[in-house]
Amino acid sequence: MTTTNATPTRVVILGGGFAGVYTARHLLRRLGRRRDVEVELLSEENYFVFQPLLPEVAAGGIAAPHVVNPIRELVPGARFRCCKVVSVDFEQRRVLVSQGAGLELVPVPYDHLVFCLVKVSSFAAMPGVAEHGLAMKDLSDAFRLRNHVVRCLELADIVAEPAAKAALLHFVVAGGGFSGVETIGELSELVSRSLGYFPRIDPSEVRFSLVHSGARILPEMRASLGDAARRILERRGVKMLLGARVRAATPSAVYLADGSVLESRTFVCTVGTAPNPIVGAALASGGFARAELDGRPIAAFATERTLQCVGRRGYWAVGDCAGIPSPTGQGLCPPTGQFALREAALCADNVLRAIDGRPLRDFAFRALGSLASLGRRSAVAELLGVRLTGFLAWFLWRTLYLAKLPGLVRRLRVALDWTLDLLFPRDITQLAVLRHEHLHVHHYEAGEAIVRQGQIGRELFVILSGEVEVSADGAGAVARLGARDVFGERALLEDTPRNATVRATRACDVLVLNRSEFHAMVRSLPVLSDYFLDLLRSRHPDALARAEPQLALGRE
Ligand SMILES: Cc1cc2nc3c(=O)[nH]c(=O)nc-3n(C[C@H](O)[C@H](O)[C@H](O)COP(=O)(O)OP(=O)(O)OC[C@H]3O[C@@H](n4cnc5c(N)ncnc54)[C@H](O)[C@@H]3O)c2cc1C
Repeated sequence: MTTTNATPTRVVILGGGFAGVYTARHLLRRLGRRRDVEVELLSEENYFVFQPLLPEVAAGGIAAPHVVNPIRELVPGARFRCCKVVSVDFEQRRVLVSQGAGLELVPVPYDHLVFCLVKVSSFAAMPGVAEHGLAMKDLSDAFRLRNHVVRCLELADIVAEPAAKAALLHFVVAGGGFSGVETIGELSELVSRSLGYFPRIDPSEVRFSLVHSGARILPEMRASLGDAARRILERRGVKMLLGARVRAATPSAVYLADGSVLESRTFVCTVGTAPNPIVGAALASGGFARAELDGRPIAAFATERTLQCVGRRGYWAVGDCAGIPSPTGQGLCPPTGQFALREAALCADNVLRAIDGRPLRDFAFRALGSLASLGRRSAVAELLGVRLTGFLAWFLWRTLYLAKLPGLVRRLRVALDWTLDLLFPRDITQLAVLRHEHLHVHHYEAGEAIVRQGQIGRELFVILSGEVEVSADGAGAVARLGARDVFGERALLEDTPRNATVRATRACDVLVLNRSEFHAMVRSLPVLSDYFLDLLRSRHPDALARAEPQLALGRE
């Protein structure tokens, strides 16, 4: 693939994370003034996220914009295209992307293609987790979690019902890997440092639970460090649910596979991933070999030690989507930022070697160590064989990650955030960024109340699957409703509190419309206002007189 004419060789990199951005940076550095090779980076966002600091953003220790860099700033000289990769046409050697305001499909040709697309969250096997769980992968996740936690504290400070308060003050995280452990450590810091502002919350009322399917947290680290992290978190009151798996989640509870239920309004799920759709399609029908770990196929490209995809010249994989044989001779390189950075450097070198017809080099990096921050000035670390726990490890963690953060300006901003954080309390401003403000789906398990008698009615519900029972004080069960039935209309049309409790009798999914959406729809669609008029006539003839004027608007 050496270039012999004036057309430059095109290297296209898919993904703007650690792997993609650093592959592009190394390529540009090595290319210098060469004009025979063109580098183009494609990514869905125009910024690079330094993921190891996300739990600190979620805990309010660092301002969200300080852990991201504009990709254009990191790769000056490369072409950057902010777009979504839709598919790869391996025959024509072009990537199809959707871009621009009209999301038009555009082909991007390549000679060499570098896959740097990370796995995506997939909660399909756990009903309700996609709707009610919070992820910890992107900046928006961290931002949303911080606001959600502050909102829970605000509500817990004023709620009267003890069970509701307990659920608001119970913070559950699933996943005992780096992101789960660091998230629960940082959350415990955010909550404990904020409690001074909430006089009606006693610290003893706050609970944290970490659900992990393995026997030991931080399985990527040495057993002694994983155990040390567990002890530190337990001393802080984090309950370890080891050997446990999440089965489902609802707005107010997390259901485990062993039948136990954790009443909680905050559920962060760091487990459950699926291959990136582009990687999945390439593995399924693009003729790429799938990597194996412990004899089982995984959702990553099998690569040579050179990072070239097995049997596919001109195709490379770096970062979490690559199954690269470990230089230790055992297993694969771990999916970490530390490895992605080293892989990116070698990939850039080997792509140029391939273009120039020189022999390729093998990946030879061995981990320098690993570190996990636990919040509250504590961490566990192993560096070059030296093991540390507590404050020293935490200091090391901060120093190393500060040094790794790209860009002097970002480094200074994070250093300033950390300095201010040592001196002042955490910011408990709650910004209105929570989702579920529009049409959304809720999952409920059998026995859970969806609405309670006496509550103010703010939503209309359409049952998508499952079954519910409607009951009223004094009258007992008055109806059973199933798929495609509607409930909650009376309180919205009459502007009165709910006159019945609706409880799931089987696991169910319900579509939720908020008040303004409901009113906009019945006012603009006569067929809907007629439907609700008939419904009221059959269910609540006594309410007809008060609701009719509202519904009449839809037929004017
Ligand atoms: C909370 C958390 C904490 C972590 N802590 C550590 C740590 O302490 N130490 C460590 O070494 N590692 C840590 N990691 C892991 C590390 O961040 C990952 O291993 C690393 O980010 C992988 O790099 P990547 O480039 O493969 O993926 P990513 O950095 O996730 O990048 C993937 C890129 O692909 C883009 N993309 C995906 N689909 C498309 C599409 N269809 N079209 C266009 N673009 C697309 C995305 O926008 C993104 O830019 C942590 C991860 C998380 C989530």
